[in-house]
Amino acid sequence: MNTQKAVDSEKGGMIKLLSKLIAADTTNPPGNEWRAAEVVEKFFKKEKIKYRIFEKEKGRMNIIGYIGKGKPRLIIACHLDVVPAGDGWKTDPFKAKISKGKIYGRGSVDDKGPLASMLIAGKILRKFEKKLKGQIILACVADEERGSKYGMYYLLKEGKLKGEYGIVPDIEREMKKIDIAEKGLLHLKITSFGKQAHGSRPEQGVNAVWNMIEFLNILKKYRMRYRKHPLLSDPTNNLGVIKGGSAVNIVPGECEVLLDFRYLPSQKAKDIIKDVKNMFRQVRRKNKKAKFKLEIIDRQKPVEVEKDNILIRTIKKHTKKVIGKEPGLIGLPGTTVVKPLVEKGILAVGFSPGEEVAHQANEYISVKELTDFSKILCLVCLDILS
Ligand SMILES: [Zn+2]
Repeated sequence: MNTQKAVDSEKGGMIKLLSKLIAADTTNPPGNEWRAAEVVEKFFKKEKIKYRIFEKEKGRMNIIGYIGKGKPRLIIACHLDVVPAGDGWKTDPFKAKISKGKIYGRGSVDDKGPLASMLIAGKILRKFEKKLKGQIILACVADEERGSKYGMYYLLKEGKLKGEYGIVPDIEREMKKIDIAEKGLLHLKITSFGKQAHGSRPEQGVNAVWNMIEFLNILKKYRMRYRKHPLLSDPTNNLGVIKGGSAVNIVPGECEVLLDFRYLPSQKAKDIIKDVKNMFRQVRRKNKKAKFKLEIIDRQKPVEVEKDNILIRTIKKHTKKVIGKEPGLIGLPGTTVVKPLVEKGILAVGFSPGEEVAHQANEYISVKELTDFSKILCLVCLDILS
């Protein structure tokens, strides 16, 4: 059987499948991934693909299909949830619209288009099931847009998802890039405590906002120590939120900021935290009444995989065959579920169809790219599991 021709003959079915997935509103929050999981379940049943459903909480459904058995296990992981539609849509974001070879709708590129493309590849690969040396795992996961607590982190932590290789079709980039490195993330909440007083007698209070400003001025000049990375941009920090004070005639007793650090594999989160605490000390040297508290809201280590390995070589080879161009390598400042997979010791990379229009109004994906991606997945799975 020629998998390439088989994918072409499934084009109509793939468009229909994607339309149903887009119509299943899985806006996160709240998620409701069960709606899209139902579409996937029907598909698995019809195509006689074995599957299991995992829910950390009712409705936050993960559905995983299995083709073949044994090792190695190659996980392909797409997510079921989408970000809110937002404003500026020319069409109904939850009704797929096809125009000039593109499908429009919330989730078309992130991540329901790649998901439909993966399912079609699964349908074709199912016909090779007896020949496969190992297992293809079609993981349709929840909660990717809000930290994966009900999705990938839950599945890996509870041992419900295991494997040797992973492909995460969730980076767009039109199959021209393979993501092999992701920055680390450190979200901190800093609170400055003062003493509330009447605005007409500020000398009786301690102004928490002024002390926070002292701290922020030091932070602004802060330069992290790091080694440059060949694929990742330099580390960054963002002051995302600032809150403080309640009225013009009150000395504010509390002020709070949220900071977002993105750092490189050569750095450690604990060193950044140490530096921040040192800044508190610098403020206190000038003002003994200044008081700060640091809380870690979220932390994810940076990850990277070797540049040369069987997964990357195989993806490059078959992408060249299908679209005529070998993908290059990149690192991402943001995070995908490549991160938890690599942390679990799974050799995983990001690779996917679609232009960079995720989270935007009038999000779309090219149908041609979806069929090409399906073809590449078939070839890569058969190559690795033969
Ligand atoms: Zn996504």
